[in-house]
Amino acid sequence: MNKKLPFRSGFVAVAGRPNVGKSTLVNAYLGQLVAPISPRPQTTRRKQLGILTLPDTQIVFVDTPGLHKQIDQLGSYMNMAAESALEDADLILWLVSADEMPTEEDALISKKLLSLKRSQPVFLVLNKIDRLSPLELADSEKLFSPLAPGAEIHHVSALSGTGKYDLLQAVISGLPEGGPYYEEDQITDLYEKEITSDLIRAAVLDSLRDEIPYSVAVRVEEFIDRDDENSSITATLFVERESQKGIVIGKNAEMLKKIGTQARMEIERMTGRKVYLDLRVKVAPNWRNDPGALKRFGYAPEKS
Ligand code: GDP
Ligand code: MG
Repeated sequence: MNKKLPFRSGFVAVAGRPNVGKSTLVNAYLGQLVAPISPRPQTTRRKQLGILTLPDTQIVFVDTPGLHKQIDQLGSYMNMAAESALEDADLILWLVSADEMPTEEDALISKKLLSLKRSQPVFLVLNKIDRLSPLELADSEKLFSPLAPGAEIHHVSALSGTGKYDLLQAVISGLPEGGPYYEEDQITDLYEKEITSDLIRAAVLDSLRDEIPYSVAVRVEEFIDRDDENSSITATLFVERESQKGIVIGKNAEMLKKIGTQARMEIERMTGRKVYLDLRVKVAPNWRNDPGALKRFGYAPEKS
């Protein structure tokens, strides 16, 4: 007998401080590069969606940008985006690096989770267990579990995949019954531009040193599918000062070419298409503190 399971769907916020493996985990479920992964913190600045549609479940992963000590207007938008992702979630995965001690930032997240208005299920996910012995893992759990009272505890390695399937089953069981939020074929159209802009940002972060990468905003102006195999993309890199423009372009435009090549290859990997990428550089003075510019670059929160 085939008893049909009810369809389940919901928003799953993936919380945790930078570099604990949030993007790696979401990408492991989605099987394609959705949120850029980088060994540098702050790659993921905005709310990111990754949608996993299975025969009887749709999970909308929201990879939060993380809570930060607020330094400028951008930092405060990032905090708001993170908080609204948590409030709106049907289930929260709080990822921690099991090979590191809890930090002040973890205490901040813990406080935030305890103050949520709804009582969504929270899973404390100890990630990077490939780096630990069973004994070390038990110690780590003792350190983190008091920060998430009542949370279900899971152990995974987002990198190797250990524990990934069990965690997914638990997430599915924790979601409410209900139909899908997104049509399967709608997903790519909705997020292609956003994913593209994140891949370009990741290329900027990999290529430029020091503080400059954080002064670069990316806007995808155009994403045109020329035919079944070729796409043509135009994007603008906004910097804060004229002097940064020179650095981003580089001598004989070599830096811009390097950024463009890396981004193009990643976009081709994502889309499975041949991509022609046209990158431009413009100055938007002090955009990190300009609410209008932040909104235009997609950093403003959808809700307040
Ligand atoms: P995020 O900032 O939380 O999104 O973290 P990322 O997904 O970008 O990962 C940060 C770094 O941790 C990357 O270098 C990943 O390869 C690494 N990483 C993520 N998950 C694991 C894991 O399970 N084991 C190990 N050893 N490294 C991991
Ligand atoms: Mg990330």
